[in-house]
Amino acid sequence: MSAEAVQVVVVGAGPTGLTAATLLAQYGVECVVLDRWDSIYPQPRAVHLDDEIYRVLARLGLGDEFAAISWPCHGLRLVDRDLRVLAEFRRGTDRGRHGYPEANMFDQPELERILRANLARHATVTLRGNAEVTGLTQEGAGRVRVSFTDRVTGEHHSIRAEYVLGCDGANSLARASIGATLRDLKFEQRWLVVDIDTHADLAEWEGVHQVCDPVRAATYMRVGRARYRWEFRLGPGETANDYRERACLHPLIEPWTKGIPVEELEIVRVAQYTFRAQLADRWRDRRVFLLGDAAHLTPPFIGQGMGAGIRDATNLAWKLAGVLTGSLPERVLDTYEIERRPHAHALIRLAKLVGTAMTEGGELGNLIRAAVAPRLHLLPGLKDQILSSRTPVLCRSDLVMRPRLRRSLAGSLCPNAVLDDGRRFDELVAGRFAVVTSAEPSAAQRTEVEQRGGVLVVAHPGTELHRWLRRRRAHAAIVRPDGTVLRAGRDLSHLSAALPSFRVNRGNARPPMPARHS
Ligand SMILES: Cc1cc2nc3c(=O)[nH]c(=O)nc-3n(C[C@H](O)[C@H](O)[C@H](O)COP(=O)(O)OP(=O)(O)OC[C@H]3O[C@@H](n4cnc5c(N)ncnc54)[C@H](O)[C@@H]3O)c2cc1C
Repeated sequence: MSAEAVQVVVVGAGPTGLTAATLLAQYGVECVVLDRWDSIYPQPRAVHLDDEIYRVLARLGLGDEFAAISWPCHGLRLVDRDLRVLAEFRRGTDRGRHGYPEANMFDQPELERILRANLARHATVTLRGNAEVTGLTQEGAGRVRVSFTDRVTGEHHSIRAEYVLGCDGANSLARASIGATLRDLKFEQRWLVVDIDTHADLAEWEGVHQVCDPVRAATYMRVGRARYRWEFRLGPGETANDYRERACLHPLIEPWTKGIPVEELEIVRVAQYTFRAQLADRWRDRRVFLLGDAAHLTPPFIGQGMGAGIRDATNLAWKLAGVLTGSLPERVLDTYEIERRPHAHALIRLAKLVGTAMTEGGELGNLIRAAVAPRLHLLPGLKDQILSSRTPVLCRSDLVMRPRLRRSLAGSLCPNAVLDDGRRFDELVAGRFAVVTSAEPSAAQRTEVEQRGGVLVVAHPGTELHRWLRRRRAHAAIVRPDGTVLRAGRDLSHLSAALPSFRVNRGNARPPMPARHS
């Protein structure tokens, strides 16, 4: 039996845990990541992430590496059961306001591989595989005892941590340990998920194809140079076993693969998933937090499940680093659930809505879709809404100071704009607070921001940041290390009084690398 002490234990080395650990490491926080498996989970799952999540990956130092394994998506096509196009929403593949393409396709195991390799570059983090966490006990002395079993030797160990991040997925032990339960948001559908590798040319449009058919709802998309994903809703009594044989599977995908010989289609896997919508009723008990699938589950219709976990990690890591270094008061940790829970819930609701609109309603639903879908582009602004990667603003909290009755930038994300010197906003700010101002600051204001560990960004007329402030009638905004606006207003002196002192060690941080997308 061994016992060591560490600042943070992260339970689970999926995308959420790896992101949280890397962000903490960038602030020099000591961290142990425990996972029951020795290497990544090899089955493909997530295939889409948006530009906000890409931006987080770039902050981790993975901009170029993600560019090399991802594929910008060209939009969404709604098709009927005969694959006739009902509506098409094309998006450009240029960089959006976060500095990256707005929709990106990839293979989750490949992403996890680069996340793991990147984490290994940080000296303050240890990733321990074959470590099955068996218990979390909150001890009186402000510590949590994390018990785990080495799956190879069978030995039992424990680590004492100041904080524990439960990033242990849908069947989370951390969730059970804090007495949280999953609230059922009333959605359950069984789907067949098929991944195929082929070097043959499917010659299909390179966006997501959504088959709007209640009898056999389906989704098709290209997710990489040689990788294609299909998802088919299973009928009552059907299981994945009915489609494991090539001969049984082929008729399902043949409308897309057409004349390509079956031998040229390598089945990566055929699996069955039950898509659910669930939200934990509490995300924290004292020193234990829930993040990612441990806290929320969504049907994947808008490709936001993993993204939500990465948003959780991004929201919490800098707050925790601030508390651990004594730079921020412990109560800032309360803002994690206040901000993240309604946001995750809103995206789950949207995913349910999209899934229902595309797949439910029987033959009548099909008739309505056939009549309505071709006219959707006539509704002003709808195309932008369907394609937009914007997600809701964060709720008011001690770290999102928004007036109740007036629209404000607070809670929204600051664009990752190109600055006067050619760098992007995130490169300059590098995990600190920023004060963005269109008014020239005085020497005293500059000193004050610097003394609080922040960085001042002057938005000159004609620049993207200047336009961004002006659209909301603001002259200045305080931007948190996660890119969210804390407060915005017209008076820089008044505003900078709300700038927290955030003096944490960024010595261990690597600057974000710009991706090579043109
Ligand atoms: C078919 C499908 C398609 C999807 N498509 C998308 C998409 O396009 N976009 C998107 O954003 N999301 C998508 N998702 C969702 C996405 O895959 C998940 O949300 C994501 O994997 C959650 O990451 P996580 O790190 O929170 O949890 P997980 O990936 O589940 O990782 C949890 C980790 O914790 C470890 N663990 C668990 N218990 C213990 C324990 N007791 N001790 C030690 N270790 C433990 C596990 O081994 C695992 O490594 C999809 C999911 C599916 C199934």
